[in-house]
Amino acid sequence: MFDSQPGKGSTWTSYPYYASRRFSPIGRAYDFGVMPFRRQRRPLTNRLHENRPMKTLPALLCVLAAGATGHGAVAAEPILVIHGGAGVVAKDITPERERDVRATLERALKAGHAILDGGGTSLDAVGVAISTMEDSGTFNAGKGAVFNHDGKNELDAAIMDGATLRAGSVANVHTVKNPILLARAVMDKSPHVMLVGEGAEIFAKSLGMQPVPTSYFYTEMRWKELQQALEDEKKSGPHGTVGAVAMDKAGHLAAGTSTGGITNKRYGRVGDSPIIGAGTYADLHCAVSATGWGEFYIRATAAHDICARMEYAKTPLGDAANVVVMDIVPRLGGDGGVIALDDKGDIAMPFNTEGMFRGTIDKDGHVRTWIFKDR
Ligand code: ASP
Repeated sequence: MFDSQPGKGSTWTSYPYYASRRFSPIGRAYDFGVMPFRRQRRPLTNRLHENRPMKTLPALLCVLAAGATGHGAVAAEPILVIHGGAGVVAKDITPERERDVRATLERALKAGHAILDGGGTSLDAVGVAISTMEDSGTFNAGKGAVFNHDGKNELDAAIMDGATLRAGSVANVHTVKNPILLARAVMDKSPHVMLVGEGAEIFAKSLGMQPVPTSYFYTEMRWKELQQALEDEKKSGPHGTVGAVAMDKAGHLAAGTSTGGITNKRYGRVGDSPIIGAGTYADLHCAVSATGWGEFYIRATAAHDICARMEYAKTPLGDAANVVVMDIVPRLGGDGGVIALDDKGDIAMPFNTEGMFRGTIDKDGHVRTWIFKDR
C-alpha cells in the first residue's frame, strides 16, 4: 500500500544524496536489511505489563531454552498494539460510546493484523491501523480531531521505523484526511523528518493527495467539547489521540501516533505526538506511542526515555514505561499513558488516568480491548 522507496516518483528526487543514503550521518548503520538472531516468543497473554513490573525470569528462561535447543533463529511472531487515547473518564462513557470504541479498535487491529499476517511490514501495519482510526471519527485524530481555540482542526502525526531509525512527521495540517499517511510520505519521499502547516500541505498536494475541505473534520461531539472548554477555560481535556506499535515477521518494530492535539489549544501549539522521541519513537529494541498532556511528554522526552532506559540501563520494558508514565510525567504535572512493545514481544500499556482506550492482536488474530484498568 505504501511506496517505501525513498525519493521514488516524488518531487523530492532532486535530493538523490539523501534518498539513496543507507547510513545515518553519525556513521552508524541502522539499515541492516536482515535482522540478527531472534528468539522464540511467549504467548501474548503472558507478556502484558500494565502498571506493574515486568517479570524477567520467564524471558531469561526463554533465551536459555532457545539457545539450548538451537531454535533461536525463528521468524518473529507479529504483534500489533494500539491506543485510542488516555484521559477516559468512566462517567462519560455511555454503552453506545463503549460499543463504538471497542468496535473501532477491533477494526483497526484486524486491518493492521492482515498486513502483518500477509508478511507486510510493521510500518505498513501501523499506518493502516492508525488511518482506520483516523477515518472512524471515534477518536481525537483525523475525522474525529478536536477543535483549537479558533474553532479549527489542526492535526499532527508521526511514524518511525525502528530498524532504520527513519522517521516522518507533520504538524498543524488542516486539510489532510490522513496525517499518518502524510507523515509516512515525509519519511519515504522527502529528505526531511518534519513538515508543518502550509508546507506540509503543499507537499501532500505534490504527491497527489487530495485535500479535504476543513468541514470534513466537523463533528458535533468535538464542537460541544470546545464550547465547554471555552466556557471553563480548561487547559486540558480528554486525550483521544490514536497510536500503534507493531512487530512484523522479520522482528522489525515501528511506532506511529496521530492526533488533533488538545481542545482549545492556541497559537500554533504542537504537542508531543509528531515530535520524534516525545510522543513517538522506535528503534531496534523498543517502540512507543504516547497519549496525554503533550507538553509534559515533550519535556520528559517520554517515548525515547523509555527506549533509552532499556538500552543503557537494561531496564525491562514494563519497568521503563512505568517509571516514565507513573513517576516522571506526573511529577512534572502531566497525565496520560503509553503503549510500548519490545523486540521480545513484551508489551507495556501503563496510564495514570482513569482509563485508556487500547487493544492488542496476536499472531493468531486474537483481539483484546480495554478501556479501564481491568476491562
Ligand atoms: N498528546 C496529545 C497532544 O498533547 C493529546 C492526546 O494524547 O490526546 O497533542
